[in-house]
Amino acid sequence: METYESLLAAVAAADGGRPVVDPATDRVLGRAPERGTGDLEQAVAAARAAQPDWEALGHQERSRLLNAAADAVDRSAEALAQLITREQGKPLNGPGSRFEAGGVAAWLRATAATPLEPVRVLDDESGQATLGYRAAGLVGAIGPWNWPALIATWQLAPALRMGNTVVMKPSEHTPLSVLALAAIVNRVLPEGVLTVLPGGGDLGAAMAAHPAFDKLMFTGSTRTGKAITSASAGHLPRLTLELGGNDPGIVLADADPAAIAEDLFWGAFINTGQTCAALKRLYVHESLHGEVVDALADMAVRTPMGPGTDEKSLLGPLTTAAQFGIVDDLVEQAKAAGGRLVTGGDPDRDAAGNFYPTTLVTGLGDEAPLVAQEQFGPALPIVAYSDLDAAIAQANALDVGLGASVWSGDAERAKQVAARIEAGTVWINKHGTVHPMVPFGGVKGSGYGLEFGAEGLKSVAVPQVIAT
Ligand code: NAD
Repeated sequence: METYESLLAAVAAADGGRPVVDPATDRVLGRAPERGTGDLEQAVAAARAAQPDWEALGHQERSRLLNAAADAVDRSAEALAQLITREQGKPLNGPGSRFEAGGVAAWLRATAATPLEPVRVLDDESGQATLGYRAAGLVGAIGPWNWPALIATWQLAPALRMGNTVVMKPSEHTPLSVLALAAIVNRVLPEGVLTVLPGGGDLGAAMAAHPAFDKLMFTGSTRTGKAITSASAGHLPRLTLELGGNDPGIVLADADPAAIAEDLFWGAFINTGQTCAALKRLYVHESLHGEVVDALADMAVRTPMGPGTDEKSLLGPLTTAAQFGIVDDLVEQAKAAGGRLVTGGDPDRDAAGNFYPTTLVTGLGDEAPLVAQEQFGPALPIVAYSDLDAAIAQANALDVGLGASVWSGDAERAKQVAARIEAGTVWINKHGTVHPMVPFGGVKGSGYGLEFGAEGLKSVAVPQVIAT
C-alpha cells in the first residue's frame, strides 16, 4: 500500500536540494529538488512540444483523463493527506488535509464535467457570429503554501481541460505535496503535459519574464502579483491573479449569535487562519457584540490545536516561522494599542513548532495593524459598530477585496448589504466556502480573473469569434 513515506521517497531529492521543515516539530521532513532556469528551458520546450497533441485529443478524451487522474488521487488520498499534514501543518481531520485531498479529486472531476459550448452571439439578416474558446497554449502556474495541493489543482485542472500544457512552480515551503500530487496524476497523463518545477521566488520571477508562456496563473501575495505583472508586461501573457485579502464580516443586529458562532469560527480559523478568503476582521452590531464574542471564545477554547498528525487536532501550527512572526507582531501591536485579549495572544515562543494559540481581540480601531493588515493566521479582531453605513464604509476602506460576509436572520436584508460591499464574493451567513461550479476571484488589490466553473475554463483559454 502506498504510504506518505513512499510518496515522499518518490519525489524527494536524493541529496542536495532544499530542506523542507515540518512546522509541528521544526524537524526537516525531506529535501525537495531545486530547479533553476536551465530546467525551466527544458520544461518549457517539452511542454510546448506536447501541447498540440494534447489539444488535439479533444474535450471528451481530456475529461476522461482528468477523471482517471481523480481516481488515481482517490487511491493515494491518505498518503497525500499524511504528506500535506507533515509539510504544511494542517490537521488530518476537520477541514484539514483529508478534506484537501478529497477536494483535489472532486475538483478534477467537476472540471472534467463542466460544459463550455460555443455561443451564437449574432444570428440575423446581417450575418452570424459564434463565440468559442481555444487553448491558450502554454500555461505557467505559480502557487502558495497554504492549500498546496488544492490550489495546484485549481490551476492545473482547468488549464489541462482546455488543452493547454502546464509548467507549475509550487511554493518553496510546500514543494513536496505538489510534487507528490503531480507524480500521482502523471500516472495517467501523457508525458510533458504537466511539469512541476520546485524552486524559489527567483524561479517564479524567471517564469513571469519568460516569453514562452501564453497564460500565467498566480495565487499568492499582492506584492508578488504586482511583480509578476511588471515582469510579464513585455510579452503580454494573459494573467489570472488570485492575491491576498483582508475579508470583512458584518454581523447585523438581527443575527442569532448562537446559530452563527460555529460558521463564523470556521470562516475565520479554517487552516488556522491561513486561507486567502478567510474572515479576517469582524464587525458586530454593538447590541450583539458581547454575545458573539462569548460564543466565539467558547468555540476557541473547545477547538483542539496540536500536531496535525494527532487525530484529535482540528487546528495546527502556522506553516512557517516567518508567518508565526507576522501574527505574533500584529497581536503584540494590538496589545500595545489597548486591545483586549479575549483568548490567546500568549504563544510559547520557545516550544517546538509554529503553534500560535487561537486569539480573539476586541477594542481595536480600524487603524490597528491587526485590523488594517492581512494576518493570515489565528488572530481575529472583533470590532463593535453602531451605525451600519459606517461599518460598510469600514469594510470597503481597504485596498483589497477578495471575500466578505454578512450575517443576519433576514436573507433579503443581508443581500442588500452585500450589494454595497466591494469584494469578489459576498457570502450570507457563511464565509469562504468555495464550490467548483461557482466562479471565484477578487477585486482591487486582491487581483483579477476568475477561477472555477465555465468562467474558470474561459480564463485559461483564448476567445475566438467565427463570423459569417
Ligand atoms: P508569496 O507571494 O510570497 O509567494 C507565492 C509564490 O510566488 C511562491 O511560489 C513564491 O516562490 C513565488 N514568488 C515569489 N516571488 C516571486 C516573483 N518575484 N515572481 C514570481 N513568483 C514569485 O505568497 P505566499 O506567502 O506563498 O502566500 C500567502 C499569500 O497568498 C497571502 O496574501 C494570501 O492571501 C494569498 N493567497 C491568495 C489566494 C487566492 O485565491 N486569492 C489563495 C491562497 C493564498
